[in-house]
Amino acid sequence: MKIGIIGTGYVGLPTGVGLAELGNTVVCVDKLKDKIDSLKHGKVTLYEEGLEELYQKNMAAGRLTFTTNMKKAISGADVVLIAVGTPPHPVTHEADLSFIYAAATELAEYLTDYTVVATKSTVPVGTGDNIEKIIRTKNPTARFDVISLPEFLREGFAVHDFFHPDRIVVGSNSKKATEVIKELYRPFQEKTTLLVVSRRSSETIKYASNAFLAMKIHYINEIANFCEKAGADVSEVAKGMGLDSRIGPKFLNAGVGFGGSCFPKDTMAMAFMGRMLGTPIELIETTIAGNKKRKKQMAERILDEVKEIPNAKIGVWGLAFKNGTDDCRQSPAMDIIGELLLHQANITAYDPKAMGTACQLLGDKIDYADDMYSAAKEADVLVILTEWPEFANADLDVLSQLMNHKIIIDFRNMLNKDKLTKRGFKYQSVGRV
Ligand code: NAD
Repeated sequence: MKIGIIGTGYVGLPTGVGLAELGNTVVCVDKLKDKIDSLKHGKVTLYEEGLEELYQKNMAAGRLTFTTNMKKAISGADVVLIAVGTPPHPVTHEADLSFIYAAATELAEYLTDYTVVATKSTVPVGTGDNIEKIIRTKNPTARFDVISLPEFLREGFAVHDFFHPDRIVVGSNSKKATEVIKELYRPFQEKTTLLVVSRRSSETIKYASNAFLAMKIHYINEIANFCEKAGADVSEVAKGMGLDSRIGPKFLNAGVGFGGSCFPKDTMAMAFMGRMLGTPIELIETTIAGNKKRKKQMAERILDEVKEIPNAKIGVWGLAFKNGTDDCRQSPAMDIIGELLLHQANITAYDPKAMGTACQLLGDKIDYADDMYSAAKEADVLVILTEWPEFANADLDVLSQLMNHKIIIDFRNMLNKDKLTKRGFKYQSVGRV
C-alpha cells in the first residue's frame, strides 16, 4: 500500500518506519524543513531504541521517503495517517486542534482515488466528524472515509510497540475503510486483537486509557505517601498488588509524578470534555491536581535537605520524562528543576539521551555534565529524577569520593539503602522509611 503520514514526530516517524518495514511505500510529510532535511539526509531526529537501524534499512530500500510537499505524500495514497500534535490550549487546557484542522484542510485538495484518512493523533470525541466536514467542504468530489486509529505506543519502546501492539483499535463507521485498515495490519492478525468500534468510541478509548494509567500512577504515589507514614515499603506493596491479575504490575512505580507529552495534556483534555458535556470526571480532576502537587512536594523535599548548606550544589541525574527517550516535554524533572530555580538553586545535570532536548528548554539556567559522575562532582545533594538503568549500577565508592555532602535523594527508588548508609550517605527515597 502507499501510505502518507502527516507529522514526523514521536508517533509519525516510528509509525512510518514500521509501516515501511512491513513492505509499504511510506511518504512522511512535515512542515518543519530542518526536520525533513535531516531525515532526507540520513539523520534520525529523535531517539528511540531500534529506530535508526530500521530507518536506514527502509530508506536504502526506497520504501521510506520524507518531504515538505503535502501533495507528494497524499496523492495516490491508500491511507493517510494524521499524526500532528494536539497540545493543550494555554487557557482552557482542552486539546488544541488547530494542527489537526490545518492538516485536514491541506490534505483535502490532493486526494485522488479512494483514500482512508486515519487520525493517529489523540483527539477529542467528535473530531473525526469535523475532519470529514472540512475535507468534504474543501473537496466535494473526493472519495474518502475518515476513521479514528488511536496510537498506544509508549515513548522509549515505540519500535517494539509498533511491532507488538496490545491491541489495534479502529474507530470506523465505514465497512470499506475498515477492510483497508484490516489489510494494512494483516501482518499482526495472528498476534493481536483488532477491535472495530464506532469512531466516537475509539476517540474515547484513547483518552479513557491514558487517564486511567495516569490515575494508576497518581494512586501509587498517594500510597507511597501513606507507606512513609505507616512504616510500609511501597515497592513491596506495589509488588503484592501487581500480582493480582485484576490490577497488574505496570504503572505501579512510585516516583515523581507522571509527565511527558501525553498524560498531562490528555488528562486535562478529558477533564475539559467531561465538564463541557456536563459530566465532570472527578477522579481525573483529582489526579491532575494531585500530580501537580506531587512535583512541588518533591522539590520541597530537595530544598529542605539543602536549607542549611549555603550555595548548595545540586546534582541531578535524569531530565527526560522517563527512561528510553530524549523527550523532555512536560517532564517532571523540568517542573522540579523549575521550582528549585525559583530558589536560586545551583544545579548540574546529566541525562544519557536528553541533554539536547533539555538544553532547548532550560538553556543556561543550569549546568550540564558530560557523564553521571561529573554531575555528582562536589555536589551537596544528588537527586535521581529519571529511572535510567545505568543509575542503578552507579559505583557508590566513586560517588562517595566525589560528593561534597553525601546526600542522595532517590525519587525513583533505584539505589540500595543499606549499601549507601554503610558508606555514610544520607539517603531518602519514596514510599519507604
Ligand atoms: P510531535 O510534536 O513529536 O510531532 C508532530 C509533528 O507534526 C511535528 O513535527 C510538526 O511539525 C508536524 N506538523 C504539525 N502540523 C503539520 C502539518 N500541517 N503538516 C505537516 N506536519 C505538521 O507530536 P507526537 O508526540 O508525535 O504526537 C502526535 C500526536 O500523537 C498527538 O496527538 C499525541 O497526543 C499523540 N500520541 C503521542 C504519543 C507519544 O508517545 N508521543 C503516543 C500516543 C499518541
